[in-house]
Formats: sequence, structure tokens, C-alpha cells
Amino acid sequence: MNELSTMSQRKRAKNKMRLFTVGPVEMYPETLEIASKQLPYFRTDEFSDIMKENKAMLLQCVNADEGAHAIFLTCSGSGAMEATVLNCCLKSDRVLVINGGGFGKRFCEICEIHNLDYSSVDVPFGEKLDASHLEKYNLCEYDVMLVNMHETSTGQLYDIDMLRDICEKNNIFLVVDAISSFGADDVDMKNQKVDALIMSSQKALALAPGLSMVVISKKMWQERVLINEKKSLYFDFISCDENLLRGQTPFTPAVRILIELNQRLKQYIFNLADEKYKRANLVKWFRTELVRKSFIIPSYPLSQSLTPVLLEQDAYQFYTRLRNEFELTVTPCGGELKNKMIRIGHLGNLEKMDYERLLNAMEEIRGCI
Ligand SMILES: *Cc1c(COP(=O)(O)O)cnc(C)c1O
Repeated sequence: MNELSTMSQRKRAKNKMRLFTVGPVEMYPETLEIASKQLPYFRTDEFSDIMKENKAMLLQCVNADEGAHAIFLTCSGSGAMEATVLNCCLKSDRVLVINGGGFGKRFCEICEIHNLDYSSVDVPFGEKLDASHLEKYNLCEYDVMLVNMHETSTGQLYDIDMLRDICEKNNIFLVVDAISSFGADDVDMKNQKVDALIMSSQKALALAPGLSMVVISKKMWQERVLINEKKSLYFDFISCDENLLRGQTPFTPAVRILIELNQRLKQYIFNLADEKYKRANLVKWFRTELVRKSFIIPSYPLSQSLTPVLLEQDAYQFYTRLRNEFELTVTPCGGELKNKMIRIGHLGNLEKMDYERLLNAMEEIRGCI
């Protein structure tokens, strides 16, 4: 074990490339150690025990209500978004989608493909989502709201408490994609009255991509999942739930990532507050430095998982130069923002000295164009 651990540390020291991405991100040595081992067979009591433990820890980490259900899926986050819509929306439901960028648009596309009656609440880039964006809708006619807690394409963190109050008042189920927020921002199903919470392995959990989790409230389970028609073989939550009772999944699960998850969730339960506090301090310091160096950060509320930076020079070229000349990979933007903004991730195994290196490189590139 020790030998492996020093091996991965040596590799990390030699490999100079640093990922300031939102997924996959820099993994922790403990995860890399697991990734180097032979996989066990999974239809066994030993693996069932790991799954039962994963389920209990996950429910605890998100503060799920009594009677909540956990679903483990072998797919990236978008698969879990689609699976959640399939299982939690009835054919007759009217759906509200908060659409402030690429991931909000993805929810719209999912509704479109599955013929759901939906309205897109558009939040133009640069605007902060507030209650006024929802004013023109007759809210009591809607059944389900779909929202990305953090719209990762822009970095905006939405006010979930505000959305919770609106949903509660109008009897709307609240579905929250917390894929880039879980582990970084405040995620609390009971307090935020979330009916379905979506998470994925490759963001703040800093695991390999390919595993996604959904936690469903008791109310959502009884009033939607159980009465819904079966629309998919692979994404059938009822079958997942029945299998999980004995610690199993209907199909071959992402065995390795589930073992990685087991280690990470244990660490989380003991250290989540500590990890969050450390990240909050680092992010605060980094943003202050950016402003001091006259870099421009958008004014809407931000997630702890990334810092968007608006650049006067071509942002895509800036990203390319950081990668090619400095071995620093930040996250480029897509669509209209591609040449205007970069996103700097705060997830995974990154330290202050990594950000110091990044800040120096950013100043150097800005200076010489
Ligand atoms: C990363 C992410 C997803 C999932 O994207 P995949 O590429 O399918 O993993 C979904 N929603 C948000 C908000 C994300 O940040």
C-alpha cells in the first residue's frame, strides 16, 4: 500500500500538467491507488455490502428525508438527467426548466425528445436569476421544476431557497441537478425541499467519470416514480431500487468507481466540513487575487466549484496557450462564450501553489498579447 502511494505521488510530481477543469479533475492519491487494483466480481455479498454502505452514506451526505431512495446508474451525468426526467415526470405533467446556459438547455432537449409539455425560463448570460424571471408564468399550472443548482456553463449558482419557496407555494416537484455542486456548494435535500437530486462521479467527488447517482424523496417516489409507466429498460428506477435492497444493480455497475466512491464518501463524512472550509478559503483568496490583478469576474452569484473569468483577448486562444505553454488546463467555454470567457475549476486535488502558478501564467499571457 505504501509503495503504491509513493508511486502515485512520484507520478504526480513528474507529471506537471494540472487540471483546473470541472470533470474529470485532479484525483486524490487514495483514488489512484484503488484505480490500480484488480476489480472484484460483483455478484457477491462483499460487493453488496459496499453498495449498501454507499447508499447509506450518500443519503446521509445529502441529508435525505426518511424513506428517500438512492439510485446508482452507470452513465455520465446527462444520462442521470434523462433518467430522472423519465422516471419523475408523468406524460401529463407540465414542466418548468430554468434555462441559463448549456445545462439548462440540456433539460429542455430532454423534455423535447420525450414529448413533455415544458416552458423554458430563459436567463440571459450575465443576468442573475431572481423571482422576476418567473413572474410571467402561471406557476400553479406546473407540476415539476428542473434546475441545475450551478449552471456550470456560466458559473452561476442559483438561489435554491428562492426556488424552493416558489415550488412549495405552488405544489411543484423540485428536481435539482447538483452534479457540479455536490461536495462544493450547500446541498441539503431536507432543507432545500428537493424531490430529486442528481450527482455524478467526476466533479467534486474527483472520481473517474461513468457513475451517476440520484436521490429521490419519499413524496416523489410515491407520487411519481411508482405510478409512472415504464419508459426505459436501462433507466428503470423501480428495478434499480429493488436490486439495491440486496446491495445489487440490475446491470453490471461501474464496479471500480463504486469502490472509489466508498472510500471518498467515508472521507466526506469525516472531513466534508473541513474540505469545504479549505476550498472556501482558497476560492476567496484566488478571486481576490484575480480582481487585484484586474481580471474580470462576472457579477452574478458564483458556485464554489469554478471561477469564470471574462477576458479582453480571445479566451479560446488564452486557454490553448495556458495548456500548450504552461501545462495548465482550465475549462474553455462553448457557444457564444467560447472567445470571451474561461472557467477555472476548484475541484479535486489542487492546492494554493497550483493557483499561484496559474495566476503567474495568466499574467504572462495577458502581458505579451
Ligand atoms: C457536468 C455536468 C453535467 C453532466 O455532464 P456529463 O458530460 O454528461 O457528465 C450535468 N449537469 C451539470 C450542471 C454539470 O456540471
